[in-house]
Amino acid sequence: MAISIHPAVDNGIKPKAENFAGGKLSCNCAQGAVEVTVTGQSAHNHVCGCTKCWKPKGATFSQVAVVPRDNLKVSANENKLKVVDSSAAIQRHACKDCGVHMYGRIENKNHPLYGFDFIHTELSKQSGWSPPEFAAFVSSVIESGTKPDQMPAIRSRLKQIGLEPYDALSPPLMDFIATHVAKQKGVL
Ligand SMILES: [Zn+2]
Ligand SMILES: [Zn+2]
Repeated sequence: MAISIHPAVDNGIKPKAENFAGGKLSCNCAQGAVEVTVTGQSAHNHVCGCTKCWKPKGATFSQVAVVPRDNLKVSANENKLKVVDSSAAIQRHACKDCGVHMYGRIENKNHPLYGFDFIHTELSKQSGWSPPEFAAFVSSVIESGTKPDQMPAIRSRLKQIGLEPYDALSPPLMDFIATHVAKQKGVL
């Protein structure tokens, strides 16, 4: 049986559009959908195996990208949003009715990724968003119920699609975070 990584990558990765201006994300509610408007292109898009990111039904991974927080506005039905876990570093704002996470925001100004909001670009009808570049927290899919003996097949499928599997974030992002921490400690 074919492994579904995520519907946005299972049939190959679509390239980004040059000069992409952004678009609107909508939750899954047929009526009164929550709508988020993003100005500009996304960055660092990836598939994520952690247990916290929202994923569509049947997908093994989520697909998640970042945008500058100033580029993101809730443009309809904001009253339907609630924070999934207020103790988490990333405050994921989900629709109360359909459960879709519309955006994740970091409120701690000392966090290395403060200033970025996390979005799921497949919630947008527009095409041309920056495509996933790697797979993060791959081993964590076991925590969602994936059988450990499926991991070699999952990692080889990710490589086949062109998404290098990592068990944390990608090396450039891990270096970025560690540099931030080192500067805060004064060792750099
Ligand atoms: Zn909804
Ligand atoms: Zn995640």
